[in-house]
Amino acid sequence: MSDGDHAHYVYPKKGVCDFCDGTNVRIRVEEETKVPDGKGGHRPAHICAACDG
Ligand SMILES: [Zn+2]
Repeated sequence: MSDGDHAHYVYPKKGVCDFCDGTNVRIRVEEETKVPDGKGGHRPAHICAACDG
């Protein structure tokens, strides 16, 4: 197994996690989950490795 390399594909960028409010964490876009975008709409949630699965 090579989870270290795999994580780079699953979480391709760094940003803010919508679930734990972690900043500068490696995230992916979770299309199935929608969060308020602050403008009256919704956008796909960003989730980090620690909150995922
Ligand atoms: Zn998180």
